[in-house]
Amino acid sequence: MKLLVTGGAGFIGSAVVRLAIARGHCVVNLDALTYAACLENVAEAAASPNYVFERADIRDRAALDVVFSKHKPDAVMHLAAESHVDRSIDGPGDFIETNITGTYNMLEAARMYWVGQGKPEAFRFHHISTDEVFGSLPSDPAVKFTEDTPYDPRSPYSASKASSDHLVRAWHETYGLPVVLTNCSNNYGPYHFPEKLIPVVILNALAGNNLPIYGKGDNIRDWLFVEDHADALLLVLEKGKLGRSYNIGGENERTNLELVKTLCSILDAKRPKDIGSYADQITFVTDRPGHDARYAIDPTRIRTELGWSPSVTVEEGLERTVEWYLANEAWWKPLQDRHGVGVRLGTGKKV
Ligand code: NAD
Repeated sequence: MKLLVTGGAGFIGSAVVRLAIARGHCVVNLDALTYAACLENVAEAAASPNYVFERADIRDRAALDVVFSKHKPDAVMHLAAESHVDRSIDGPGDFIETNITGTYNMLEAARMYWVGQGKPEAFRFHHISTDEVFGSLPSDPAVKFTEDTPYDPRSPYSASKASSDHLVRAWHETYGLPVVLTNCSNNYGPYHFPEKLIPVVILNALAGNNLPIYGKGDNIRDWLFVEDHADALLLVLEKGKLGRSYNIGGENERTNLELVKTLCSILDAKRPKDIGSYADQITFVTDRPGHDARYAIDPTRIRTELGWSPSVTVEEGLERTVEWYLANEAWWKPLQDRHGVGVRLGTGKKV
């Protein structure tokens, strides 16, 4: 298949590009190269004759039409987005423009192309989204997000992603565009931009800086290794039912404090400090406004309908992630230098 992947220079998009190329697909990577992008994430894939890069902005409809007519993709995997919740609180405008208007532009460009091609049955528009659209869960472990959970987004980021999900469903119902949607829990793994919690903790720990945790650290997130997410995304693209959405998650709920302590103990074993533990550097900082208490995914549909399950446990995945950051300073150091060391990016909080 020839896949048009948007946001393929970002964290999850680049994992999709690497896996798709490894599986013999052709990939057109469309990315505007914002601050969150890094083409080194796809350096190996880019050496393949099956890979093409197009620098384009999804806010620019005309540019999208050019890419569709030039490359004639068999399917679209739409990941390009502004993705950082803290940044959406500081400046929501970019989130509205990219996540909502940009998705509208992608849908219209894809629809015009699909109609122009004679509405091929096999064409797919796969919209990649987040579990944050469902809002915040109570602490009862029996309650999880299913595909039928009502939308209740509470941050500018999640509201913009919820809007984009609604647009995608509307384009399916109204125009018959062949779409599939996925809503995934928090991802982690190699090439995670150093403003996100897990890399911030690893890199601040190594640098001897504080390890910032919002509030009391009791917010619960459901963690999935990014390569397992990429695998699930390709499966849904190929086997998912039209017009249907699939929740993707690893059933790995952890409080933020538990997660940070696990990372500290992995680091304690791999890079012991002279005295004490990295956990001594944990510092509690003022909570994020509107901070959702708990996210948890019920992945029954993707497991039973499509036979997907994650390949690594969260313990294995975190271990691999720490090892990757220890071995890849040449990747993260320049990004850190460009964006500020020891600062929780997006909030400007000194940590
Ligand atoms: P990311 O911020 O790492 O990457 C986003 C990519 O999109 C970057 O390469 C950036 O340059 C590109 N981009 C941004 N604005 C653009 C524009 N206007 N035009 C073209 N390209 C643009 O994000 P990520 O964490 O890889 O997330 C990818 C997708 O997955 C997003 O849609 C996000 O909502 C969704 N998602 C993320 C997570 C997570 O835990 N990170 C979980 C579930 C779903």
